[in-house]
Amino acid sequence: MIDVQDLTKEYGNVAAVSKATFRIGAGEIVGFLGPNGAGKSTTIRMLTGYLPATSGAASIDGFDVFRKGNEVRARVGYLPENVPLYSDLRVIEFLRFRAQQKLVPASERRARIDYVMSRCALTERQRSVIATLSRGFRQRVGFADALIANPKVLILDEPTSGFDPLQRREMLDLIHGLVAEGKTTILFSSHILSEVQAVSKRLLVIAKGKIVADGGSEDLIRKFGENQYHIEALAGEAPARELLESIPGIVQVAKAAEAPAPGGVRYTITAKHGDDPRDAISEAFMKRGIRVRELASDRTPLETIFARLVSGAELETAAVAATEGVAAA
Ligand code: ADP
Repeated sequence: MIDVQDLTKEYGNVAAVSKATFRIGAGEIVGFLGPNGAGKSTTIRMLTGYLPATSGAASIDGFDVFRKGNEVRARVGYLPENVPLYSDLRVIEFLRFRAQQKLVPASERRARIDYVMSRCALTERQRSVIATLSRGFRQRVGFADALIANPKVLILDEPTSGFDPLQRREMLDLIHGLVAEGKTTILFSSHILSEVQAVSKRLLVIAKGKIVADGGSEDLIRKFGENQYHIEALAGEAPARELLESIPGIVQVAKAAEAPAPGGVRYTITAKHGDDPRDAISEAFMKRGIRVRELASDRTPLETIFARLVSGAELETAAVAATEGVAAA
């Protein structure tokens, strides 16, 4: 449904987006994750036909976003980061105007407006002048606008930015509702990991203009995390280490930072990616009659992986974003 190939946007000699390539299938929901300044908005504005690319290609539902802008805009509901609303209009007037502009057939307009207002919890505020609404409500009006023409594809740029935790939860619930229906393809951006995880299974991570990862949480942990385990056993140091080192798939055995209980040993084990050596370990230890007190996986948390992926200057932003997300969850 969304097809992006080597999409690039340069400002002078700085690449805001560099050779972004990804595909999003019909009905899929993808979280576009990256710290501030990573290139999310630039990518989204190119995809929605509002910003020309320096090079590369992109299409939505088979239409080239640069050559067939009108067809693309007719299929895509777009919620920009800063929603441009006609602030003098009342909510219902604005939605009527937008439905007309987006060519919703006259006979369907009324039902469609009622539907999006109810969906976005705006029915009670339909007579309010947009300028008098809080940021949360204005964002909902923007969301209702994005949904008005029953789009196949929904592209949401930081839909929860500037929200308090409650508003954030409401917006995520709204997105979740659409995801559950499964009729819309959704790409939504955020700098908060937990928020993206709450709504979408697939994460597309961008940092410094480059797509650095694409996949589900598990895929990313497997691909970028260390495959580590820890073991505590009642044995002498040398025999336990020797035994561990003899198990295929184990690449490193190191003394654990945490001290073992008296009479035991504690090791941190790194295994090959994709291998889970726990069964082999218990079996080997059992055969020797060594008691294993604890044997557990020490997988790298996704927060750490995200922070590493966006690394360097953005590390702090990511850490902050991760905590923000936790606080809001
Ligand atoms: P994000 O949405 O992930 O926060 P943006 O896409 O807004 O990131 O920005 C990506 C990079 O491109 C940033 O470094 C930003 O400063 C730069 N950038 C964006 N728009 C312009 C512009 N019009 N002129 C120059 N640089 C820009």
